[in-house]
Amino acid sequence: MTYSIAQDCSDVLARLGVDPALYTGGTLESFSPVTGERTAQLPQQDAAAVTDAITRASDAFRAWRDVPAPRRGELVRLLGEELRAAKADLGKLVSIEAGKSPSEGAGEVQEMIDICDFAVGLSRQLYGLTIATERPGHRMMEQWHPLGVVGVISAFNFPVAVWSWNTALALVCGNPVVWKPSEKTPLTALASQAILDRAIKRFGEAPANLSQVIIGGRETGEALVDDPRVALVSATGSTRMGQQVGPKVAARFGRSILELGGNNAGIVCPSADLDMALRAIAFGAMGTAGQRCTTMRRLFVHDSVYDQLVPRLIKAYGSVSVGNPLTTQALVGPLVDRMAYDAMQAAIEAAKAAGGTVHGGARVADVAPEAAYYVKPALIEMPSQTGPVAEETFAPILYVMRFTDFAEVIEQHNAVGAGLSSSIFTLDLREAEMFLSAAGSDCGIANVNIGTSGAEIGGAFGGEKETGGGRESGSDAWKGYMRRATNTINYSRALPLAQGVVFDI
Ligand code: NAD
Repeated sequence: MTYSIAQDCSDVLARLGVDPALYTGGTLESFSPVTGERTAQLPQQDAAAVTDAITRASDAFRAWRDVPAPRRGELVRLLGEELRAAKADLGKLVSIEAGKSPSEGAGEVQEMIDICDFAVGLSRQLYGLTIATERPGHRMMEQWHPLGVVGVISAFNFPVAVWSWNTALALVCGNPVVWKPSEKTPLTALASQAILDRAIKRFGEAPANLSQVIIGGRETGEALVDDPRVALVSATGSTRMGQQVGPKVAARFGRSILELGGNNAGIVCPSADLDMALRAIAFGAMGTAGQRCTTMRRLFVHDSVYDQLVPRLIKAYGSVSVGNPLTTQALVGPLVDRMAYDAMQAAIEAAKAAGGTVHGGARVADVAPEAAYYVKPALIEMPSQTGPVAEETFAPILYVMRFTDFAEVIEQHNAVGAGLSSSIFTLDLREAEMFLSAAGSDCGIANVNIGTSGAEIGGAFGGEKETGGGRESGSDAWKGYMRRATNTINYSRALPLAQGVVFDI
């Protein structure tokens, strides 16, 4: 029997316990970028169905906020256990639906497990401060309370990790979740929900509808964004999407966490360990076929090492294996769809017009059926930061430029709209510290001697400027999912007023 990705996909979905009624007979067609084959037809939720889901989530909130946080953590601990058991299958589904290599698919599920572990610990550490008060016989403190319904909108390229960053924190913080996954990756969302449902069943004390998935495109997302009962909208995707979502949520005084596009750069200085830089740049720029928000897209190389590094990079680009992530060991898998391929080719043409010299970038047609889009990653030597270099093209294109002056390269580095991730390769302490200082990289993530991609869950994740300013995952990102109350308690027999104000009646 010949291999069918659609059959493989429905076998995995069955093993993960997803109800076939959720992915058959509907109007949303789902395709695998690996072969271009259709994998499912999902029923979609319209705006009225989203409103109903939010009503159910609001009911769940009233019960869940009263469950002590360490008990809420127990549910997330069970979710981590269920994810461990489902790691191989869910990782495979990520590969089928998003085209990632098995190692990256499994890595994404590991990230889900890691954030569960983090959130379990957090469930006993949602600390407020005790603050010195100027009034005698008073105590001042702050408390962190559950916020309300959290709406999660996610992108295709991290189809499940982004949900878990939000959901693990939202749940321990006392909030229900309504999730609108990318219309390009709905199956991994249904599978994640089925896994969470198993954890909820074992937990036994959760209110109904603590977590719901709504399937659909932009309109479905808009219904979530517009509903004032959604206290927090955590939206991951393009800057264009954030420009639409951010103002709408702000207009109703809702809270948003925006995780938007990146245009991440690396800087290679004269003292850099070039072997290490080469490997870091290759993974950062070509890994996941350039479809990570943290993919390295711009590279500034010092004039004194340019001719040692760039020819080696061009060679690596020429020899990198491109192919089916499920049946070969290829390092570079497919682009998500034809639109991504067209956008890549348009950017390459624009770069040529702006004086760029292109290496790679052509379609690799012989590795897959016509409906799948595999490309050789492109390295483009640019005379300066011009043309398409200033914009994110969500494909494996690395623009390479020379520099001579450190202060100038920092300026160039920061002279784009996005501000997500950045890195410098140097053994010079002054350069490294300067890059990390207030006058250095303006990004939310700044690395030394590693690439721009591959963040861990322990740190806060997100970026500045057109990347949206949101932070998710580790550090104190949990505060975005709670509301703070400052409490002052008077245990004296007097009523002294702050700032020495007198008001005797
Ligand atoms: P996209 O913007 O096309 O879609 C993202 C999600 O937003 C989808 O679920 C989509 O249905 C929804 N959406 C689009 N317009 C909407 C609207 N007006 N209202 C409500 N929902 C709307 O992005 P994509 O192509 O799926 O993903 C790639 C982009 O995501 C890249 O720009 C990448 O850099 C970015 N990204 C950012 C991060 C981060 O953490 N900063 C992580 C992953 C991806």
